[in-house]
Amino acid sequence: MRMKAADEVAASLSASIATILTSPRPTKTHPPLERLENARRSLPQHLPDLGLEMEETFRHVREDVVPGLSQSSRSSRYYGFVTGGSTPAASLADNFVTAFDQNVGVHLPNESVATDVEDRALSMLCELLNLEPLQWPHKTFTTGATASNVLGLSCGREYIIKFASGDRNVSVGEIGIYEAMLQASINRIQILTTAPHSSLSKAASILGLGRASVTSVGLPDAPHLFDLPLLKKLLSTPGTASIIAVSASEVNTGLYATTGMRQMQELRELSDMYGAWIHVDGAFGIMGRLLTDPEDRNIIQCCEGLELADSITGDAHKLLNVPYDCGFFLSRHREIAAQVFQNPNAAYLNSASGDDIPSPLNIGLENSRRFRALPVYASLLTYGRQGYRDMLERQIAVARGIAEMIHESQDFELLPRSKRTKEDILDDIFIIVLFRAKSDDLNAVLVEKINASRQIYVSGTSWEGKSACRFAVSNWQADAKKDLPIIKQVLTDIVTA
Ligand SMILES: *Cc1c(COP(=O)(O)O)cnc(C)c1O
Repeated sequence: MRMKAADEVAASLSASIATILTSPRPTKTHPPLERLENARRSLPQHLPDLGLEMEETFRHVREDVVPGLSQSSRSSRYYGFVTGGSTPAASLADNFVTAFDQNVGVHLPNESVATDVEDRALSMLCELLNLEPLQWPHKTFTTGATASNVLGLSCGREYIIKFASGDRNVSVGEIGIYEAMLQASINRIQILTTAPHSSLSKAASILGLGRASVTSVGLPDAPHLFDLPLLKKLLSTPGTASIIAVSASEVNTGLYATTGMRQMQELRELSDMYGAWIHVDGAFGIMGRLLTDPEDRNIIQCCEGLELADSITGDAHKLLNVPYDCGFFLSRHREIAAQVFQNPNAAYLNSASGDDIPSPLNIGLENSRRFRALPVYASLLTYGRQGYRDMLERQIAVARGIAEMIHESQDFELLPRSKRTKEDILDDIFIIVLFRAKSDDLNAVLVEKINASRQIYVSGTSWEGKSACRFAVSNWQADAKKDLPIIKQVLTDIVTA
């Protein structure tokens, strides 16, 4: 590669990236199939022996690869999974992350301000979520909510076995789960939850707890809510240690597992009594704590008391709208963090500073880490509390607009089915709308037909054994006035086709 070419390519690339970041949002959620096929065909089969000219590499990237990329983050009408886009502030900051390529593993105050920025971003994030930063001394950025759930269950695992072992202070981190359970006289670990995200089972598998340890304790007619008598019975099983996992906004329906302060207090009392750990999976639902409008009182209430948990999972690449990959993890137990994540016998990895900022590599999964705090930091500064609240209110307005449209339609039905009034249903809608077509024939092809429009994009799922369709509104550009008419048009076209 010639070095001269690098700065020419950099100059023209910078200009084209700036154009992408400031140009109007795309009208299509995805490239047409033939463009995808062209992009795929352009990929070389093998590593070149002699490298290409840099100019040639980037001609290929710009002209062949980029046209084949999804617009899911750039379009406000991509409603698949729960994804979020990236605010301009976050995207711009991400360019600095790449340009300076910091390794944010060790807190080295005489060398870089990166760990201070990360610490400040995490504190501001706590403030955004109405959590007192000092009460969450173990906080860190992760690669996403899955990684945060691994952190949550691993801290929980450490804590509940230690609790069961009493004065012997047994540590899973030190002697391993089998020996620790023997010494603590525990023969079963259970994760008690309702409507969990699939990543909770994955985390249980990774940590040696097993997917089978994930136990649903939902009410028969409202499976997202805790059956408290059943929960109490399971918690009190002799020889058993428990983690309670609270799904704070479930990914299919957006419903919350807890109904307010009183219930969280009850969970807290039970946990303290039986030595359980409360982990909240609030990947996107934790953002509900930003809301203040009386119209959002149901969501506000469901988010009350989440601060009583021991640990919280959040995703920044979802509703915070920063680039992948970025999640966060908060825990109230700093000493547990050290027992699980401390790199042993590596004094050089500890910072010598007198301040209170921990080295990230001693409180989380990774040792070397990307400076993923910077986009969060820049976006929080740019939007502030009010800006993020406005953004969430716009997303909720789109979701409720969709729900209303579906509720009033002859052809679709809103899920979960309920006999409540329209107002009651809309009040529970956060950013997710689950529905299906009343006709089985249409329902079978509904997701495919909607997504073929390339105007909007939804996810398929199943509900009560039948296929269903789901909108998740998570992009920072959500705008009811612009987006709802297009959604309505697509749905109308499908029904009348
Ligand atoms: C998205 C999601 C996850 C997994 O998050 P990733 O960022 O994909 O790792 C976990 N829990 C819930 C509730 C989610 O919505």
